[in-house]
Amino acid sequence: MTAFPAVLINKTDDAQDVAYTEITDADLMEGDVTVRVSHSTVNYKDGLAITGKAPVVRRFPMVPGIDFAGEVDESTHLDWKPGDKVILNGWGVGETHLGGYAAKARVPGDWLVPLPDGLSAAQAMAVGTAGYTAMLCVLAIEGAGVTPDKGPVVVTGAAGGVGSVAIAILAKLGYPVVASTGRQSEHDYLRDLGATEIIDRAELSEKGRPLGKERWAGGIDAVGSHTLANVLAQTHYGGAVACCGLAQGMDLPATVAPFILRGISLLGVDSVMVPKPKRIAAWQRIVTDLDRDKLDAMTTTVSLKDAIQTAETILAGGVRGRTVVEVG
Ligand code: NDP
Repeated sequence: MTAFPAVLINKTDDAQDVAYTEITDADLMEGDVTVRVSHSTVNYKDGLAITGKAPVVRRFPMVPGIDFAGEVDESTHLDWKPGDKVILNGWGVGETHLGGYAAKARVPGDWLVPLPDGLSAAQAMAVGTAGYTAMLCVLAIEGAGVTPDKGPVVVTGAAGGVGSVAIAILAKLGYPVVASTGRQSEHDYLRDLGATEIIDRAELSEKGRPLGKERWAGGIDAVGSHTLANVLAQTHYGGAVACCGLAQGMDLPATVAPFILRGISLLGVDSVMVPKPKRIAAWQRIVTDLDRDKLDAMTTTVSLKDAIQTAETILAGGVRGRTVVEVG
């Protein structure tokens, strides 16, 4: 059986060990479709999985990589045949099911969506789970009535993956965008993506008042904790905030004041278990609403071996935009 490259996480007595190695088809898990993986990405959750800083991995050994793009190699699933180009995000891949950091992955065909026309596999993974989640957040606030004429949208964790893609999409749709970042060095980058105003994340990251001056019509928050509480407290009457991340913390030290006095909606966004029609719709919107030059500008590409180091960097808040992993 031919061996192929993979990153493998193994559990040791009191820690875990991560290695760039080789596995074979016999190591793959159950599934009716085998995919030749060409690209994966480094998301925040991959950082947690590879470093072991949170108990993301639930099965050992584990191939990390919560998303991938590639071509169907073998299939007994009615929807897929060899040569079909596919994307996978979530469903526990890289957590409970072997993931995208290997040249092959075997998964249930129901988890796959077609690579949309107009995106290459590399571009789809430049978007990756972070960018697809950013799109889900935009769809959430749009659905709650936050349209560009209502006023600005604040994006927290702006220079990260979710934040960068959210800014580019919102700008293309005509929203004024307030970018909240802790990195002074990335102000020009954020303006180039389409931010119309930049604020220091320190303005939002400490305990604030239950209600503040109304500054934005909506928000996309990848940070949680006091930041999300302050975003809610400074949202216009009737506005909506999509919450998808916890880069500052998992807590939400807020009061009910924004909800009961300003009618603000807090919209939870999960990307892992989203039903297939909504996934396909989100990817279609990415095709039309994300400027490709901006996607290129926010993307760095690394080898499979170097993805291990990038996992450390992303948790330290040191990755700008998105990181594609060249796998196959
Ligand atoms: P990144 O690391 O690329 O971006 C996170 C950004 O948050 C950083 O770049 C930084 O932005 C900011 N940040 C980091 N630490 C802190 C801190 N202590 N306080 C305030 N801001 C901080 O990660 P991703 O964009 O890939 O993911 C962002 C979050 O979204 C993660 O928590 C991730 O788990 C979550 N997520 C959730 C998904 C879901 O399904 N709900 C799917 C995808 C991601 P800056 O330097 O500009 O300040």
